[in-house]
Amino acid sequence: MAVKWCLAPIDFICYHCALLSSEERIFMELEMEAKKLIDKLELEHKLDKDEWISLLDSCSDEVREYAAEKARAVAQSVYGNDVFIRGIVEFSNVCKNDCYYCGIRAGNCNLERYKLTEEDILQCCKAGYRYGFRTFVLQSGEDLSYTTEDICRIVSRIKSEFPDCAVTLSIGEKSREDYAAYKEAGADRYLLRHETANKAHYEKLHPDEMSWDNRMRCLRDLKELGFQTGCGIMVGSPYQTTECIADDMIFMSEFKPEMIGIGPFLPHKDTPFKDEPKGSYEMTLFLLSLCRLMLPHVLLPATTALGTIRPDGREQGVMSGANVIMPNLSPTEVRDKYMLYDNKICTGDASDKCHDCVEARMKLIGYRVVVDRGDYRV
Ligand code: SF4
Repeated sequence: MAVKWCLAPIDFICYHCALLSSEERIFMELEMEAKKLIDKLELEHKLDKDEWISLLDSCSDEVREYAAEKARAVAQSVYGNDVFIRGIVEFSNVCKNDCYYCGIRAGNCNLERYKLTEEDILQCCKAGYRYGFRTFVLQSGEDLSYTTEDICRIVSRIKSEFPDCAVTLSIGEKSREDYAAYKEAGADRYLLRHETANKAHYEKLHPDEMSWDNRMRCLRDLKELGFQTGCGIMVGSPYQTTECIADDMIFMSEFKPEMIGIGPFLPHKDTPFKDEPKGSYEMTLFLLSLCRLMLPHVLLPATTALGTIRPDGREQGVMSGANVIMPNLSPTEVRDKYMLYDNKICTGDASDKCHDCVEARMKLIGYRVVVDRGDYRV
């Protein structure tokens, strides 16, 4: 239901509003309450669990736009109109794990597996550097054939060939010793989505061999070792409730990640969740705005999944407070083999085309892609 807002102060019900039906009045009061919570979040950067649940349950277009407007202003006050790009190199689609939502899970026998060599990875970075990328994200499944020494050597080579670039790793759960070695080799950032801060929910998304406690241990280790650390969730993952998202927001407000990856859940045809509905595009945008208000300095990608669920999803993500886009630098021959979900975009375009496309899209909405490492600003 769309109720047109009057211009009266937020606590004042004008004569016109008094003529609304009781259903419209309730709806309007809920929106007013949600806006007050958004104001509070902007001011105090945190809410309690009941407040989160109430706010998340009030995600109307009006409330979402109210949050987006504030989030845009906050992002601009920290990062201006700059959008940082990260070049992702998906260097292996082999994974020992079997997360129920993931298209490259070990149990998917319909997938042709690949691994890039060290030289392949360096070539991707070299091309990316020419296009203006100053952060390279090395991403893979949990592929044990790359040893700690291999990863460290690859990181060191990238850092010595491109000393003005940052390296982000996104290679899953490892021991503290491994993380320390990657840091020592020069890695700057680490992405590890926590997936859900609710242990019972985590157990519905993962097989018994995987543990929420270990995921949390990894995140703590990464932070303590000095990585710019990224966590995040899928919006609308199976069994996710409003309470789960409230737990996520509280976890993130306490953990204070430097990066947050939030995208809609999208099913993959070869997973146990193949028939589950997609996550909500609108709720994803709303959460991006709320993350920006909660952690004003956070590096917040408008994800490829957001661009997959809607053609202008990444633009709308930036308009909702995001400030990072992560185009693909992987060789085109392997891109369609790194399908975490169905219909992923940008699998056919060469890296330079992806870069130019993102640049043009950002320009259209008044933002500019910058040649910059795009570090977290304290
Ligand atoms: S989500 Fe990550 S750890 Fe889980 S199966 Fe996919 S690649 Fe492996």
